[in-house]
Amino acid sequence: MSEKNITLTNLSELGEFGVIETLTRNNIVKHNSVIRAIGDDAAIIKPSLNNTLITTDLLIEGIHFNLAYCPLKHLGYKAVVVNLSDIYAMNGTPKYITCSIACSNRFPLEALQELYEGIYAACQNYNIDLIGGDTSSSLTGLCISITAIGEAQEGKAVCRNTAKPNDLICVTGDLGAAYMGLQLLERENTIFRSNPQIQPELTGHDYILRRQLKPEARKDVIEILDKIGVIPTAMIDISDGLSSEITHICKQSKVGCEIYEERIPIAQETEKMAQEFNLPEIITAMNGGEDYELLFTIQLKDYEKIKEIQQITIIGKITDAENDLFLVAGEENYIPIVAQGWNAMNKE
Ligand code: ADP
Ligand code: MG
Repeated sequence: MSEKNITLTNLSELGEFGVIETLTRNNIVKHNSVIRAIGDDAAIIKPSLNNTLITTDLLIEGIHFNLAYCPLKHLGYKAVVVNLSDIYAMNGTPKYITCSIACSNRFPLEALQELYEGIYAACQNYNIDLIGGDTSSSLTGLCISITAIGEAQEGKAVCRNTAKPNDLICVTGDLGAAYMGLQLLERENTIFRSNPQIQPELTGHDYILRRQLKPEARKDVIEILDKIGVIPTAMIDISDGLSSEITHICKQSKVGCEIYEERIPIAQETEKMAQEFNLPEIITAMNGGEDYELLFTIQLKDYEKIKEIQQITIIGKITDAENDLFLVAGEENYIPIVAQGWNAMNKE
C-alpha cells in the first residue's frame, strides 16, 4: 500500500460476512442474463442457446506470485485475465467469474480491497460479471481461485486436438517478454533483500514489466478472427511457453510441426534484457511462460485472410510426422522441440 499513514483494518474486526460485504458492495452486474449474482447460496444465470465454457485457475502465494514485487491490484487483474485467456483460447467469449480467496490475518481489509480493485478493473475491461465466490482464512499465505464461465456458438469452440497436416501455425503478439520481466523483478528483489539501501533499477523496462505484472488476454484477436470469418483448426493460450503449448497441440492432434526460428516474434525490449542475462532470446520465447498470447493453427485456404493481420504472425506448419516437433533454424538445422515450460510441480 502506498500511503503510510492509512489506518488498516484487521479482518477479524469485520468477520467473514463483513469482509464479503465490503469487497462486493459496489459490484455492478452488466449482463441481463444474470438473475441473481452475489448474496445468495448460488448465482442464477439464464441459459443461452450457446455452448457453455468453464475454466478455473488456482494461484498460490510463493508458488505463482511473490508479493514482494507484485502489487495486489495487478495480482487481482492478472488472476482474472489468465482465466479469460483460457476462454478466448477456446474461441469463446467469457461472461462471468467467481472468485474465491483464502488469506491469513497478516492481510488487512485494505489489502483485499486493492486485490478486488484489480479484479473489478479486469471485469470492466473485458465486460465480465463477478457472480460469486468464497472467502476463508488460511494459516500462511494468500490463495486466489477464479473460475471463468463463457460461451461459444455451437460448432465454434476450438480444441487442442484438431490440428491437421499442412495447417499453418500462428501466434499473436510477441513472446518471452513476461519471462524477462520476471527475471528482472527477481534480480532486483534479490539485490534489494541483500541490501535494502539499493533501490530497484526498473526504469526503462516498462514493456517487459507490464507483460509480467499486468498481462492482457487476446479478446481483440478472437474478435478479429470472427470478423474475417476464420475459425482456427486448433488453439491454445501460451501460459507455459511456446514449446509446451505446441507440444500439447501436436500430441493431442497426433501430428508433428516445423516452427521457423526467424519467424518467432520477439520484442526489442525482450531481446535487450535477454542479452543482459546472457540468455539466447529464442529460449525466452520457447520456454518462458505467462505470455497469454494465442497459439493456433489455420487451414491453408485462410492464409490470405490472416497474412494482413498485424497482431498475428505465421511461424510454421503442421506436418503429418506424429511426434516430430522441430524448431528450424536457418535452412537445414532441425532442432527437436522439447516441452520445458514453467511447471509448478517441478519448482522447488
Ligand atoms: P455460503 O455460506 O453459502 O458459502 P458465503 O457467505 O460464503 O455463502 O457467501 C455469500 C455470498 O457472497 C455468495 O453469493 C458468495 O458467492 C459470495 N462471495 C463469498 N465470498 C466471495 C468473494 N471472495 N468474492 C465474491 N463473492 C463472494
Ligand atoms: Mg462460502
